[in-house]
Amino acid sequence: MRKFFTDVPQELWRSYHWQIQNRIKTKEELKRYIRLTPEEERGIDQTTGLYPMAITPYYLSLMDPEDPQDPIRLQAIPRAVEVDERVQSMGEPDPFREEGHIPGLTHRYPDRVLFTLTTFCAVYCRHCMRKRIFQEGERARTREEIDRFLEYVRRHEEIRDVLISGGEPLSVSNEKLEYVLSNLRKIPHVEIIRIGTRLPVLAPQRFFDEELLHILEKYSPIWINTHFNHPKEITQESAEAVERLLRHRVPVNNQTVLLKGINDDPQVMLELMRGLLRIKVRPVYLFHCDPVKGALHFRTSLEKGLEIMEYLRGRISGMGIPTYAVDLPGGKGKVPISPNYILSVSGDTYTFKSPLDGIVEYTIRDAELY
Ligand SMILES: *Cc1c(COP(=O)(O)O)cnc(C)c1O
Repeated sequence: MRKFFTDVPQELWRSYHWQIQNRIKTKEELKRYIRLTPEEERGIDQTTGLYPMAITPYYLSLMDPEDPQDPIRLQAIPRAVEVDERVQSMGEPDPFREEGHIPGLTHRYPDRVLFTLTTFCAVYCRHCMRKRIFQEGERARTREEIDRFLEYVRRHEEIRDVLISGGEPLSVSNEKLEYVLSNLRKIPHVEIIRIGTRLPVLAPQRFFDEELLHILEKYSPIWINTHFNHPKEITQESAEAVERLLRHRVPVNNQTVLLKGINDDPQVMLELMRGLLRIKVRPVYLFHCDPVKGALHFRTSLEKGLEIMEYLRGRISGMGIPTYAVDLPGGKGKVPISPNYILSVSGDTYTFKSPLDGIVEYTIRDAELY
C-alpha cells in the first residue's frame, strides 16, 4: 500500500515520466512527507550545489517518515556528515582512475569496457561511487561523444563485453538507447552488452514501458546489473520490473554495496539475498564501500564484510551468495575476498573449517597419484 501520494491515480503512479517529473528536490517539499532531523536539514542546506538531492515519489514512499535510521532515508537524504571536514579530507573524487582521454570511457580489463552514458540519475544515492559527476549537472552524452566511444570499441577487437553505466543509463530516451545498442550490435567482436541501472530499485516504472523492453530484447544478449542494498527495496513494483525483464529474455544480476548503518548486519544481508532469489535476481557482487570523497562515512571494516560472508555460507544456497570484492585503488582492479576455510595443509591433507560445524580433515590428490 502506498504511504504517501495516495491521491495520485494509479496510471500516473505507474508512469516513469511522472515519477521523474515529480522528484523531490528541495527541503521544503521533503518536509511535507518526512519529519527531518536537524542533521538532515543541515545536510540538505550544506550539500546544495555540491551534491544535489533528488528522490522519486516511489523511493520516498519506501521511507519510514519517523525513523531517521531508516535504510532508504540514509541512502537518499543528504546529511551534514557528507561535507564535514573529516569525511571531505579523506578519499578522492575518482579513486579508480576512471576518467581517461575519451569522455565517459574506462578500459581497464582487456575484454571489457565501461561507458557512462549520462550523469542524470533518478535518485542521487548518497553513497554513489561516482559522486564526482553530481557536480557536472544532469547531462547525457552527445551524439558526437557516443560516436567516439563506438569508434573506440570498433577499433579494439579484444573487447567482448560492453558495460553501459552512468549516471542512470536507462534514463535516456528509447531512441538514444537504441542508437547505442544497435550500433554496438553491428560490431562483430562485441559478444555481450551489460547495462548498469538502478531503476529497478529507484523507479521500476521504467520497465512498465513495452517499447523499452522490446529494444532490450531486440539487441540480445543484454544483461542487467542492478543495485539492491536492502530488503525494504524488494517490493511488488520492483518484482514486476524484474519479471518483465525476464519475460523479454534479459537476466537481472545484482551488485550490493556494504554500507554502514544500512546493510552491515548479517541478518539484514541474509534477508536481502533471500529476497533477491525470490524475485529471481542473482546476487553477484557484494562490494566493499569505495573511498569516494563525500561518502566515506558509509565505510565499514573489512572484517565486517567477512563476518557477513561467513554468516551467509550454510544459511542460503550458494546461488544466493555474492562474491565479496574490493576495488583496488589506482585502477588496479577488483579482488575477491573470502573467509578462510582451509585452516592448515599437511602434504595433500587439508584441514577445513566446516560451514556447518567443526573441523574436517580431508585428503585430496590428483588422480594420477592414486
Ligand atoms: C567493475 C568494472 C568492470 C566489470 O567488472 P566485472 O567483474 O566483469 O563485473 C569493467 N570495467 C571497469 C572499469 C570496472 O570498474
